[in-house]
Amino acid sequence: MCSGRVDLAFILRAFSNGTDGVCVIGCWPGECNYATGGNYHALNMVHLCKRLLEHIGINPERLMIDWCNASEGIRFADLMNNFSKKIKELGPLGKSEGIEKDKLSSRLEEVIKLVPYIKLVKKDKLSLHLDNVEEYKDLYTKEEIEQLLSEVVSYYIDPEKCQACGICRKRCPVEAISGEKNQIHVIDQDKCIRCGTCYESCPPRFAAVRKIIAEPVPSPIPEEERTIVRKGKISDSIGR
Ligand code: SF4
Ligand code: SF4
Repeated sequence: MCSGRVDLAFILRAFSNGTDGVCVIGCWPGECNYATGGNYHALNMVHLCKRLLEHIGINPERLMIDWCNASEGIRFADLMNNFSKKIKELGPLGKSEGIEKDKLSSRLEEVIKLVPYIKLVKKDKLSLHLDNVEEYKDLYTKEEIEQLLSEVVSYYIDPEKCQACGICRKRCPVEAISGEKNQIHVIDQDKCIRCGTCYESCPPRFAAVRKIIAEPVPSPIPEEERTIVRKGKISDSIGR
């Protein structure tokens, strides 16, 4: 697989599955096989991932990126031997970090859920192509990641304002919004990738989608209370 195809989520998932160390090996910088610079993207993403690991208490040395071309068998073997020696010294995941397995796993799951959001917020930086590979090391700072993860955005549909027009439901890229005709729509927070499309697409005259930053999202309105009673229809029935 091209190193450019290695997603942030793949690496975090490997750690979440109990892998003690992850090594990404790409073609040498400037020698991308597909001329797309996927290896630069991998380098960028690995440094972002290292910061995320550090944030949740995992030693970032457990993640490595390096370069090797198909004819460099000896180099490949050396890279692997050195990395596996380093991981053996660090011990099983969580041990040298002093974090219990369950705690580590729940921290990793939390970050994995935020991967689409992290990629969206950091899309400009993630698409940077720096000629000097050394510059990637300082591309993301500890403080930046702390801020990113402490100001996570959520979206909530205000049941008092939703008019069940269905626009947000149709535009949500992950089918996280449910609602029928004449029913207040609701966001499934577990499915939502926080893309903000519903917030942008809810008609301004309704403005029913709220953006919530670093605060808990209110519980969804119970299913039996979701039917919208239109004012016009009430007065019609009273008048009859
Ligand atoms: S923020 Fe995006 S993913 Fe979440 S409910 Fe709205 S449209 Fe769907
Ligand atoms: S677009 Fe707005 S008004 Fe329409 S269903 Fe979604 S939240 Fe409700």
